[in-house]
Amino acid sequence: MEAKQILSQLTPYKQGKQTKEIQEEFGLDRIVKLASNENPYGYSAQVKQVLLQGLPEFNVYPDGYTADLRSALASKLEVEESQLVFGSGTEEIIQMLCRTYLVPGSNVVAATPTFGQYKHYSLIEGAEVNEVPVDADGYHDLNKMLDAIDENTRIVWLCSPNNPMGTVIPKESFKAFLNNCPKHVLIAFDEAYFEYVEPEANIDVLSYLNSHNNLIVMRTFSKAYGLAGLRIGYGIADEAIIEKLNVVRGPFNTTSIAQQAALIALSDQTFIADSYNKNKAVKESFKKFLDQIGWKYFHTETNFILAETPISGTEVFQYLLERGFIVRPGELLGIPNTIRISLGTDEDMNELKRVLLAFHNEAIVK
Ligand SMILES: *Cc1c(COP(=O)(O)O)cnc(C)c1O
Repeated sequence: MEAKQILSQLTPYKQGKQTKEIQEEFGLDRIVKLASNENPYGYSAQVKQVLLQGLPEFNVYPDGYTADLRSALASKLEVEESQLVFGSGTEEIIQMLCRTYLVPGSNVVAATPTFGQYKHYSLIEGAEVNEVPVDADGYHDLNKMLDAIDENTRIVWLCSPNNPMGTVIPKESFKAFLNNCPKHVLIAFDEAYFEYVEPEANIDVLSYLNSHNNLIVMRTFSKAYGLAGLRIGYGIADEAIIEKLNVVRGPFNTTSIAQQAALIALSDQTFIADSYNKNKAVKESFKKFLDQIGWKYFHTETNFILAETPISGTEVFQYLLERGFIVRPGELLGIPNTIRISLGTDEDMNELKRVLLAFHNEAIVK
């Protein structure tokens, strides 16, 4: 049997080690996972409360239209219900976009480094990927991205805040980009960390949907909402885009329990505000710590921070792993000599600071 040729050049997603594995390997009591940008404060208590009162009927298929969540989200975002599409995580929306728009001979434009799945799924559909390096401060270079667009370009992937840096695309450069981006190109704008962005940095991307029918915004319940394990995310775009995606979409692609949990989570904005505030305080304190030990880091509008390491990120990763902290080495993210740290609780971050300080002092002595 012969699989698509491109698959021989790709590998399955390399997930972080599972905590149980590491605990056994290094004989640790406790592991702090700071590798996947999950919400360290869990999820809205109301979700648990409601679900404990009675679970959905698992013997019947879910509502493929996602009616209840669709209606709640449409009113919250002030868009039409027909402008929404749901996926098994944003991940699946990205996959649907690739299946809908890409053919062999077409190409996409993306920043590098950025979220790896844009490239992965684009390649699988036979498209070429034009990668445009971010600038020295980790921002998308939108002018160079415009230059990289040609008549065969179908999608330009924008990630704001960008994973793994945390930088957002500034409003003025985005406006200029929108006005200069050819209409045959779909602008896929990934806002997985939207809920963490500070008000001053929010460019209100949804406000451009009416004037630009080649724009899709993607968000998720996996990060700030704390529902990563349930797999549900959504896209917001012109109805014509959604219609096409619905042809490609599996009829029952999100589960009944995910739909129900997301609906409850959406109604509890106090939880989101609380997560935002706690994250912001932890971030400030951790940045101060990095300043003190003299490690540079990228500006971040998210619940993670990319810090430059004095030796390879993989080695720092290993040092931390042996002491019970899982972070993500930059070598796996396309930016060597860095580590990406998801911001945990105050308590866990204080412990991490102690371990990093010890590492730093050892490194100086050497
Ligand atoms: C985590 C993440 C996603 C994936 O989110 P899911 O909804 O869990 O699939 C998408 N984009 C970026 C940039 C992310 O960091």
